[in-house]
Amino acid sequence: MERLQLDTDIKFLSGVGTAKAESLSKELNINTFEDLVYYFPYKYIDRSRFYTTAEIHSDEVAVQLKGVISNFRKQGAKYKEHLNAWFSDSTGRIELVWFKSIDWIQKSIVPGKEYIIFGKPSFYQGWSIAHPEIIDPLKAEKNLLTPLFPQYSTNETLKNSKLNSRAIQTLQQNLWSKVTSPFPETLPQYIIQKYNLMPLTDALRNIHFPKDEETLAKARFRLKFEELFYIQLNILSIKADKNQKSIGFVFNKVGDIFNTFYNNHLPFSLTNAQKRVIKEIRADFLTGRQCNRLLQGDVGSGKTLVALLSMLIALDNGFQACLMAPTEILATQHYATIVELLGDMPVNVALLTGSTSAKNRRAIHEHLQDGSLNILIGTHALIEDDVKFKNLGLAIIDEQHRFGVAQRAKLYKKNITPPHIIVMTATPIPRTLSMTLYGDLDVSIIDEMPPGRKPVKTMHSFDSKRLMVFKFMRDRIAEGHQIYVVYPLIEESKNLDYKDLTDGYESICRAFPPPQYAVSVVHGRMKPEEKDKAMQLFVKGITHIMVATTVIEVGVNVPNATTMVIESAEKFGLSALHQLRGRVGRGGDQSYCILMTDYKLSADAKKRIDIMCKTTDGFVISEEDLKMRGPGDMDGTQQSGTPMQLRIADLARDGQILMAARNAASDLLSIDPQLADPKHFMIKTRQNKIFSKEQNWSRIS
Ligand code: ADP
Ligand code: MG
Repeated sequence: MERLQLDTDIKFLSGVGTAKAESLSKELNINTFEDLVYYFPYKYIDRSRFYTTAEIHSDEVAVQLKGVISNFRKQGAKYKEHLNAWFSDSTGRIELVWFKSIDWIQKSIVPGKEYIIFGKPSFYQGWSIAHPEIIDPLKAEKNLLTPLFPQYSTNETLKNSKLNSRAIQTLQQNLWSKVTSPFPETLPQYIIQKYNLMPLTDALRNIHFPKDEETLAKARFRLKFEELFYIQLNILSIKADKNQKSIGFVFNKVGDIFNTFYNNHLPFSLTNAQKRVIKEIRADFLTGRQCNRLLQGDVGSGKTLVALLSMLIALDNGFQACLMAPTEILATQHYATIVELLGDMPVNVALLTGSTSAKNRRAIHEHLQDGSLNILIGTHALIEDDVKFKNLGLAIIDEQHRFGVAQRAKLYKKNITPPHIIVMTATPIPRTLSMTLYGDLDVSIIDEMPPGRKPVKTMHSFDSKRLMVFKFMRDRIAEGHQIYVVYPLIEESKNLDYKDLTDGYESICRAFPPPQYAVSVVHGRMKPEEKDKAMQLFVKGITHIMVATTVIEVGVNVPNATTMVIESAEKFGLSALHQLRGRVGRGGDQSYCILMTDYKLSADAKKRIDIMCKTTDGFVISEEDLKMRGPGDMDGTQQSGTPMQLRIADLARDGQILMAARNAASDLLSIDPQLADPKHFMIKTRQNKIFSKEQNWSRIS
């Protein structure tokens, strides 16, 4: 028999036709048989299990019930009309509701007859199910094809074209009934054997029609492995390609500048992690290729010093260096820190931001070009076209996730030979995610805090306990410490947030009146000079409390500030909370973080707060974040240029499969870097097919 052609247009599948084909194409990007085969269920429901109405206790899982429907009631007028009915079994009764097709439903259901219903309960003055699936038990045998009932995601538009999850399942059935011989394999036999993978066609069939849990697990493993394998293969070949082509400056000297600083100016000894990372960077500088390194280190782990030491190596080799930060406050602070650390050393450092005067700007331009300026620190003003270096050897980008890909690319073009690039991020990224997002960058991790740091004690407090929190704040101030009070700033509700902030500021000023107390405020509506002034008062310890929106989220360093009060903490994501908390705990004193929330909290918000109270480890927090939100919503991934919509693999859970797939890809490339061997032709074709659609895939640098 002839093999089913996977590239057949979907409209030729029985049950599809032109109209449905159009919806499938538009909404789900399903154009061919193959696309449908690769449209996987997002979950399975165990339809062998029946619940009783008395057992319903959560709105999270859909339930299957057996019982009778009675007591139909039409309610509401005209377009608000809906239909209610009772559903009862021997243990009790719930409500059923329909908003659409009311007449048809009422006509087709026989009151008093036994039905199987299936749907997601919700609670409002009792449990109810809206638009349940209704099955005649006499026909159930035919409907319940498999105990593991696949659920396909659809949307309103699709449902309106009669393409709900059930309908997609029927299409899968129509297609699979024609599959008589296996599809061509997409992985070579030796990989299938080595990793004990299920053959492709079996895996695909079982993902749609699982025989049992165990077979489903094997099918999933195979398909996840394959998905991750091709992603890793692509990243690793881009990396290999880049390594081969890229030329970079060689910095082979560690000279006077570095050594003088290291021996005479370093205020403390480096942590082992800092030492290791500097070694890794040094090694990059010697290869003759461009260094592209991602430096991850939790807030407060001492990345600035690593940045400075790396820049000094560039200087020792006759090059200039720059350090770019996402905000003016942060750039200014980096500048101040570095100038202070360098002391009387003969190194010229300048600061360039949006508010640098025209006169200073001209001087900076001039000194950059004649080479007398060694280190330039600034905001994105640094990458404007009129900023030209004589010989930029190293560019460091701090808090990378604030910069888009395009901005980074601009920096690479500052020279004919691209400068070495180090990207520093304080948002720890789970390893699985960084391997997928930044697989073509080398990664260094500072996984050790400077000695003497005490973990920040974190507490949750409801708004109603505000007076106790004020008392706590007064006690800290009496001990000579300073305090941050932070309000959320969410773009959509800017005006509201601004009101929260100003109300909050006023109430804090009332609770902490002068002359005993002084309060600073910083928010997005202030001019840069005003912000800076307020910030400086706090940095110098003149004000006790800094009330702010999240503008202080990134980077500022005030070791004497030991308490962080976060208002409406439920509105912040985990990574924002972690970043904010990182503003305290920077000195040797015990620090505190108080998360204020409303009494009512969503389940997710509650979980975030719990995680924050339980751990201060940025990696643990980012793993949790990934689990809760999925990779597409993590900070930084949107700008990454990498599609994070995986079909089946889950970066939060499939770390081990990812490692296996990466090893397989890396082994393959080490024997056949160009995939030129005829036995790898199939892999090469598949790779081209997957990645040609997405031109910019993984072009991080
Ligand atoms: P981040 O990684 O968040 O940018 P910073 O570079 O701002 O962290 O460093 C945080 C604080 O730790 C600074 O006050 C810095 O001076 C201090 N620090 C950095 N390295 C060390 C070290 N090896 N020993 C002691 N303190 C250090
Ligand atoms: Mg920093």
